[in-house]
Amino acid sequence: ESYDTTDVAIIGAGPAGAAAAAWLARRGLRVRVIERSRFPRFSIGESLLPQCMVHLEACGLLEAAQAGGFQPKNGAAFTWRGRDTAIDFRDKFSPGPGATWQVERADFDQRLIEGARQAGAVVEFDTRVEAFVADAKRPSLTLVGPNGERRSLRAQFVLDASGYGRVLARLADLAQPSTLESRCALFTHVEDRIDCPKHDREKILIGLHPTHPGIWYWLIPFQRGRASLGVVGDRATLEAAGADDGERLWHFVHAEPRLAGLLTNAAAIRDIGCLEGYSADVRRLHGPGFALLGNAGEFLDPVFSSGVTIALDSALRAVPLVERQLAGDIVDWDQEFEQPLRRGVATFREFVDAWYDGRLPRIIFNEQQTPRIRAMISSVLAGYAWDENNPFVAASRRRLNSLAEACGGDATPAISEVG
Ligand code: FAD
Repeated sequence: ESYDTTDVAIIGAGPAGAAAAAWLARRGLRVRVIERSRFPRFSIGESLLPQCMVHLEACGLLEAAQAGGFQPKNGAAFTWRGRDTAIDFRDKFSPGPGATWQVERADFDQRLIEGARQAGAVVEFDTRVEAFVADAKRPSLTLVGPNGERRSLRAQFVLDASGYGRVLARLADLAQPSTLESRCALFTHVEDRIDCPKHDREKILIGLHPTHPGIWYWLIPFQRGRASLGVVGDRATLEAAGADDGERLWHFVHAEPRLAGLLTNAAAIRDIGCLEGYSADVRRLHGPGFALLGNAGEFLDPVFSSGVTIALDSALRAVPLVERQLAGDIVDWDQEFEQPLRRGVATFREFVDAWYDGRLPRIIFNEQQTPRIRAMISSVLAGYAWDENNPFVAASRRRLNSLAEACGGDATPAISEVG
């Protein structure tokens, strides 16, 4: 049998795979990225968080991304029954950048993987990973190429960055259901034709349905007058709203006054996408000769746009450990990778729980907090979910509980009875 060899094999060329590949290739390791699709390809996950910028810089891909001229983003705006409020990431508690971008992922991901290639990584598109043999020293993959031909790739370490492909979760039997409820998202891209001086294109706009608990929207403006538009909710409620996904999405948009007003002249420029049951988890994020990055490991929920941030964070945490292990060091993947990564993810999870049970909307729409408290909330929403100096990181649940209580229960979004 013929086989190829490399130092590090990476499954998937999304942000996690590209960041890991760029970093490792710059350190002089032989890196091979295996990508099932052909780029550019569509992906959901278009609103980034400022914390991302730190990671892009660390793997040397910030300039490649900058060259895309993406729509700047400095915060999140929220609307519910005619009440508007916003969190500005520049007013935040943690150090670090206070702005980022909103990106069409086809272009963004293409730029990142091209940057990784320029750093020396070899990328094989149109090639999918079909089988995996774990081994502490010589893990191997079976690849299926564009014409269906199979071959083996032996590495010293495998990083799974296959996102929703969840390759090693399946092949190494690690999958475990998420504790989050299964929800459904309908989305499209529009030529938005927004003509409203009050509309701030530098913020993602999150809307809450005026009466339906648990239904919320995103509007993510891009460059050149385009935007991403989506609605999230439980499947039954979404399905009842129309005969097909397009009807359902627009039914809900028309039901939310601010979005309906902004998008009066909008025209859809791609088919409606639908993703369901995207929350997922694994029992472990590592094993003999491998580790799981980004969505290939755990995915929570889209509401705070944390997906790409967690993907990049996981990649940048793993790569120095891979380098050390290949140099002969003993690495404790649990202590050095999984536990610290999961601490930040747990912060986001507390915020996701607080979003759906109504505590967080209550906090966000009540602007009575001191600027310092507001800045602590802003920091987490900006992606600084690992900064233990922030009380809303170190003791998320307790702090969210007491703050929500202090905000009272008057006129708060009816998102709480979800489920
Ligand atoms: P991906 O970007 O998914 O890349 C994985 C790659 O692996 C793909 O290119 C795929 O083709 C490849 N692959 C899969 N299987 C194989 C195989 N067998 N062999 C070879 N290659 C394979 N995140 C945000 O940050 N902001 C948002 O606003 C946001 N909105 C979201 C909205 C919704 C409705 C959902 C569901 C998610 C959202 N996310 C958001 C999350 C975001 O989409 C992901 O977290 C992010 O794309 C993960 O990046 P990744 O690098 O882990 O994987």
